[in-house]
Amino acid sequence: MPMNIALVGIGKIAADQHVPTLSASPDWTLAATVSRSGTVDGIASFTDLDRMLAECPDISVVSLCLPPVPRFVHAARALAARRHVMLEKPPGATLTEVHRLEGMARDAGVMLFATWHSRMAAGVAPARDWLRGKTVTRAHITWKEDVRKWHPGQEWVFEPGGMGVFDPGSNALSILTHILPMAVHVRSAVLEYPENRQTPIAAQVQFTGNVSGDFDWRQTGPQTWDIEVETHSGRLVLSDGGATLAIDGTPQDVGENREYACLYSHMAGLVARGQSDVDLSPMVHIADAMTLGRRVTVAPFSF
Ligand code: NAP
Repeated sequence: MPMNIALVGIGKIAADQHVPTLSASPDWTLAATVSRSGTVDGIASFTDLDRMLAECPDISVVSLCLPPVPRFVHAARALAARRHVMLEKPPGATLTEVHRLEGMARDAGVMLFATWHSRMAAGVAPARDWLRGKTVTRAHITWKEDVRKWHPGQEWVFEPGGMGVFDPGSNALSILTHILPMAVHVRSAVLEYPENRQTPIAAQVQFTGNVSGDFDWRQTGPQTWDIEVETHSGRLVLSDGGATLAIDGTPQDVGENREYACLYSHMAGLVARGQSDVDLSPMVHIADAMTLGRRVTVAPFSF
């Protein structure tokens, strides 16, 4: 029996991924949307979350596709109304917000899933399996994409709480924290802030364990989402955001990339088992980089 779900925040990622994924899933029925401007053909639409929660008692799950800053207030309302909640990544504007949401979910007896879609990329689980028990000698993230293509006109990414290049960078960090067989932490960072913006457009981060990351939002042409990991017993490269995997130069058969289908199937399992899934380790690295980072001012940016 499919579960009724509501999507909140009908913007780019809702249209690109959530709506098509839910439409194709046997586990879910998209029963309502909540958005100030967006709608989905044939689906009941609301502009106010509280009204949807009051009028649709049969909707047990709410999936929030908003940017991080407005997410806490919406999540808190849905949890208070005893709905299970899914959070787009990054799960909040601050760590404390998400810790508080975890407590609210526990008190309300409902499930909270802080999603990291890149962790569901096809090469990630095999990469984690291959690295288990190995000694990592070096790892490097190269995450370079065009902010104008992936966040067209989205001013929030450069507002406080928008996290700048760490918005896509959180995808890389969600993979890194999932596959590495050891814990690492940020030692230093250089953060490049456009002179007219509040968040970094590029960052270079050095972690313990000879692990580093190079994040840049100014890349035009081919986009690069790679993680290389060297060990005493071979070298692994995850590319295309984790969708492809090569070990010692040999491409591995990892199957089809189904990130959002896997997220929703995982959420169905969490609800069925009565479990929450909240891992903040990617966000801890972002918070640490922002705390330790040396700020450099670069050319102004406009969309
Ligand atoms: P978006 O299109 O700018 O925003 C999504 C929707 O959120 C908007 O359409 C808007 O809906 C609502 N919204 C925006 N600001 C709001 C506010 N202050 N208060 C209430 N509602 C607000 O952003 P997006 O690209 O979909 O990204 C949303 C989240 O998905 C982000 O956390 C992002 O990291 C993640 N994500 C994005 C991508 C991508 O490729 N863009 C990929 C994966 C994950 P209404 O105005 O209609 O209410």
